[in-house]
Amino acid sequence: MPRVLVIEDEGDLAEVLRYNLAAAGFEVAIASRGADGLRLASERIPDLVLLDLMLPDLPGTEVCRSLKADARTRRVPVIMLTARGEEIDRVVGFELGADDYVVKPFSVRELLLRAQAVLRRTAAATASDPVLVEFGALRLDRAAHRAWVDGRELELTALEFRLLTTLLDRRDRVQTRARLLDDVWGITADVTTRTVDTHVKRLREKLGRAGDYIETVRGVGYRLVGAPP
Ligand code: CA
Repeated sequence: MPRVLVIEDEGDLAEVLRYNLAAAGFEVAIASRGADGLRLASERIPDLVLLDLMLPDLPGTEVCRSLKADARTRRVPVIMLTARGEEIDRVVGFELGADDYVVKPFSVRELLLRAQAVLRRTAAATASDPVLVEFGALRLDRAAHRAWVDGRELELTALEFRLLTTLLDRRDRVQTRARLLDDVWGITADVTTRTVDTHVKRLREKLGRAGDYIETVRGVGYRLVGAPP
């Protein structure tokens, strides 16, 4: 279920958004102040942020800039909620990094369409990016061979990193132990399929809560879930 964070200080509008987004299948979190929004965003990375431009404590532009400056939330798309007459060009400028905007008063239907379009674009961009991969709580930098879960860097061996990227690249498809041995270890002779089990177990432990993304397919092998839960 995609998670959307609404940062909006108008209580009535926030409630309308909460109701309609939930009805459309989103998990919704609401913050009425910019600082609370930034805290919520870093605690549980949302899939999308709806951000009011005029907040009581911080300008929405400042909140957006902070989201885009933080490695954990940099890739989270932001839709600005603006009032007519505000400087929309500046708001959606590349400098700020917002992905789209809607002008108040907007129809909920229009907002939902924009939200779904932005999420589709983001998913496509992530899938075609071979270097940086984000998958739920998990983030990978293939070039640097680094991995994080919820922003916490993991200490993976080269082999564990390769095992993880192999499963991730073939997510939603079962990988037999023999196939993993071939592709990750590159040998078929001196190691047994038990080796795969041992390494997957250790990798799961290191992944913490993201360890649940790796499913055991009894009698066959392993599969990384198709979408983060
Ligand atoms: Ca406002």
